[in-house]
Amino acid sequence: TRDVAEPQDEIELAVEGALRPLSLAEFVGQHKVRGQLQLLLDAARIRQRPADHILLSGPPGLGKTTLAMIVAHESERPLRLSSGPAIQHAGDMAALLSSLTPGEVLFIDEIHRMARSAEEMLYLAMEDFRIDIMVGKGAGATSIPLELAPFTLVGATTRSGMLPNPLRDRFGFTAHLEYYEPEELEQVVERSAIVLGVGLPRHARAEIARRSRGTPRIANRLLRRVRDYVLVHGQSGRAGGAPGSPAATQADVNAALELYDVDPIGLDRLDRAVLDALVRRFRGGPVGLSTLAVTVGEEAETIESVVEPYLVRIGFMGRTPRGRIATPEAYAHLRVPHGDGSLR
Ligand code: ATP
Repeated sequence: TRDVAEPQDEIELAVEGALRPLSLAEFVGQHKVRGQLQLLLDAARIRQRPADHILLSGPPGLGKTTLAMIVAHESERPLRLSSGPAIQHAGDMAALLSSLTPGEVLFIDEIHRMARSAEEMLYLAMEDFRIDIMVGKGAGATSIPLELAPFTLVGATTRSGMLPNPLRDRFGFTAHLEYYEPEELEQVVERSAIVLGVGLPRHARAEIARRSRGTPRIANRLLRRVRDYVLVHGQSGRAGGAPGSPAATQADVNAALELYDVDPIGLDRLDRAVLDALVRRFRGGPVGLSTLAVTVGEEAETIESVVEPYLVRIGFMGRTPRGRIATPEAYAHLRVPHGDGSLR
């Protein structure tokens, strides 16, 4: 259901790679986190040591992977990419850690989804750059200590609340990424449009930025859909539209985004399904997360880590001890009279 938000094929992934900023200076927004990271990296450089471990949390698409790449690039160290779901045994973790070269940056996405045994091995590795490998079984089992090359772990999670405290405590720096302001997304779109060779007047950039759910990945994706739209519909009868360098008008932006079910304030199909269920079916709530998830046919985790943070942030949804509720603004957006959720 998140077709507009997620990369779908290898070409798209390659394009996404080309759009990534490589330095903190090019990274738009997140001023506080950027300043903190800069200090951490500068200090590591002076001390000639790998930077302290870094935990990044926040909804998908806000730049966690990009920041990990920047950490590696700025400290001139190689980067190893892995993810929680790929580490299902202590053995996976041992193989990964023991193959790191000195100073390497290890990025673990979705770090909250690692196997427990792997997580416990990571504690010791993060603290002492050492692991204990168990050999044999039963009474004859022994543990052999193995020294590791010092490394920097960059962990990313959409759900920092799911991380056990012992793991969280071992990160020297933790940062929460916030949704971006429209003006910041406009800068992301401006930069990406240059990389993609799309001509985009300011108002068209602003329109994409406004409809990107505060998320750079979505801004880039919508920009690509607008580029497609202009390529297909915009060439004939428009001056200056040489092949390969299309220029988009605001009308193109509106038409393209409408085609992909992005509404005027940037909500996508799933956002609207959740709001609609909350307002119409549950008459504004309160309703529990799992009930809401079943109603819209989506995983509770997706609702909680992707849909809900944005709806809360724009003031459409509230969280109470008894469940999720819709605000008057949500009713207004769906054009349902407030206090009467039983229209259907
Ligand atoms: P996930 O956790 O789902 O992997 P993420 O938070 O790691 O998401 P990224 O993959 O780092 O997100 O970023 C998604 C895209 O958005 C990248 O292609 C990158 O180019 C762009 N992007 C993210 N943050 C910024 C930024 N601050 N400035 C410019 N571009 C950005």
